[in-house]
Amino acid sequence: MASPSSSRNESEPSAVGQNGQATASEESAKKRLDLDSLATMRKVWGFMKPYRGWFWLGMGALVLSTLTVLVVPQLAGDLINVATGADPLIPGDIGTLGWIFVVILVAQASLSFLRIYTFAQVSERSLSDIRRALYNRMLGLPLPFYEKRRVGELTSRITNDVTELQDLIANTLAEFLRQIATLVLGIAALFIKSPKLTGLMLLIVPVAAILAMTFGRFIRRLARERQDALADSNVVVEETLQNIQTVKSFTNEHHEARRYGGFQDTVVRLAITAARYRAAFVSFIILAFLGGLGFIMWYGSTLIASGEMAAGDLVSFIIYTAFIGGSISGMVELYGKVLRSVGASDRIFEMLDEAAEVELLSTNAKAASGSAAKATQNGFASGEPNALPTPAPLSGAVRLQGVRFSYPTRPDVVVLDGVDLGIAPGEKIALAGPSGAGKSTIAQLLLGYYDLQEGRLLYDDKPSEHWGLRALRQRIAVVPQEVLLFGGSIRENIAYGKPEATDAEVEQAARQANALDFIRQFPEGLDTVVGERGIKLSGGQRQRIAIARAILKDPAILILDEATSSLDAESERLVQDVLEKLMANRTTLIIAHRLSTIRNVDRIHVLQDGKIAETGSYTELAAREGGLFQHLLKLQFDQPLDQPRRVEA
Ligand code: ATP
Repeated sequence: MASPSSSRNESEPSAVGQNGQATASEESAKKRLDLDSLATMRKVWGFMKPYRGWFWLGMGALVLSTLTVLVVPQLAGDLINVATGADPLIPGDIGTLGWIFVVILVAQASLSFLRIYTFAQVSERSLSDIRRALYNRMLGLPLPFYEKRRVGELTSRITNDVTELQDLIANTLAEFLRQIATLVLGIAALFIKSPKLTGLMLLIVPVAAILAMTFGRFIRRLARERQDALADSNVVVEETLQNIQTVKSFTNEHHEARRYGGFQDTVVRLAITAARYRAAFVSFIILAFLGGLGFIMWYGSTLIASGEMAAGDLVSFIIYTAFIGGSISGMVELYGKVLRSVGASDRIFEMLDEAAEVELLSTNAKAASGSAAKATQNGFASGEPNALPTPAPLSGAVRLQGVRFSYPTRPDVVVLDGVDLGIAPGEKIALAGPSGAGKSTIAQLLLGYYDLQEGRLLYDDKPSEHWGLRALRQRIAVVPQEVLLFGGSIRENIAYGKPEATDAEVEQAARQANALDFIRQFPEGLDTVVGERGIKLSGGQRQRIAIARAILKDPAILILDEATSSLDAESERLVQDVLEKLMANRTTLIIAHRLSTIRNVDRIHVLQDGKIAETGSYTELAAREGGLFQHLLKLQFDQPLDQPRRVEA
């Protein structure tokens, strides 16, 4: 019934998605399978290769089960032929044929079990390797990459795209091959039964197939639009839930509900339109294919009546036709799935091919060493998984030479414009200046988050490349202004600064950061779970944990981003003491928002418009008539002193 259908599949993938399974990701899916898709498949195979034993076992089971199933129509026809006195193709009486049927059934059941089990082994394991590789790659990607993309888009890679691929490896590929075999062998069997009837059937099918194709393409487009609208509405959910406090503080619940509702209306409208056409499509398929089948039955009956065909052969013919019909419609759908999977794989490999700033090794040694080709594809080095480099033996000298910098997402805005700055080992310097002057940017550059456009960054008079990013970052600790913790326990959060730290070290660090008292007040102590992003702790408590974390890390270079900003006066005094100790003999860069906290630093650099406008000690700068620092001081201290103020430009 279907030689035309195979050409239909090659040239026309669009009849897929009749059941509305299209995803937004299909936008970028290839329109047809081509050489690039083959290359993508080869990459997927790279991940399946370590489990190829299972794969081939599954394929063997698949081929055998397809062959045994194809015997069933013949057997059914032969049973009738024996009963009506005609010659069966498979020799034997009704009893023998019945036993053959039982054997086939048992074989079918066992082979299907084997196939599903083996393909699950291949797909689950290789998919997990892909997820690990993706996650490792994401962790290693530089910050600018994240600034250009939404988190939702990235998590969708590791969830939706990988799931799409799972279907391909676990089912689609095998099913596709099975359908092709059913099609080819089924048509061959039909020709043997009755060339005349087969010829008639092949006349009906192409017309129905072409109509189905055109219809299917249209339906797929509608399904995609619906899926896109749904994705848009999900972005609203994600954004608002992530920023739920902002939504609430602005009492914008109604606004957000309306926004989400608007998207939902669009989704429903598109979905109903798509459903209407889909329903028409299904009706058409039923009419075309069942109508065709009825016609064949009618014509076959006339052949039986004229003695040209045995009754049993017509029964075999019709069952084969039903098999073939099933595999045609199955293939159309499967083809769509293959295309989607190729699209999803492309997106996955695109990310795996992104240049990472930190090369993480696969945690699965097998996956990493599975094939040489894959190892280079994924940019994974071989060797000890996740081995940390030895921390850079820094004494803490830092120098910025002629640094010119714009953020990659805003290349036109020059944030730093020729900044020269040097910090000797153990020195404490502060960066002051109006908001947006570039103070935090300097800290970010020190951490190697971004590449400079011009100039150099030297650590102990050697460029960062000499040390290596990870080794360098191991020697730098940041106590940020806004501390976000991980959802685990306080202990885990403090130990984040030194994962191998002992309990005693963690406790000691908490004590030094003046955090132990409040931690002990919790019934669970250090094992208190801090809630998602540390939401169950106050800002000041979070900050003290961040300080404990830095203490534990024992860095050569310390960056304090107005570290005491969320503490009350008493805690601040205590923490300030701790910080003094932490800063002792350690290179420290303080990003100052409140100028009162930087009286004792060795030097203050005042930034303005991306340049260092003034440099000097607190007293020098405060005394400089008409200077920027003096101006900032006046702005700050003209306000009541008990309220910390940020300096606005
Ligand atoms: P504040 O005192 O308000 O924290 P700052 O002096 O630390 O200010 P930076 O955070 O360094 O200022 O920002 C300097 C400029 O760079 C600002 O104009 C800011 O809008 C811009 N900027 C900061 N981060 C980014 C980013 N990730 N991408 C693009 N532009 C950025």
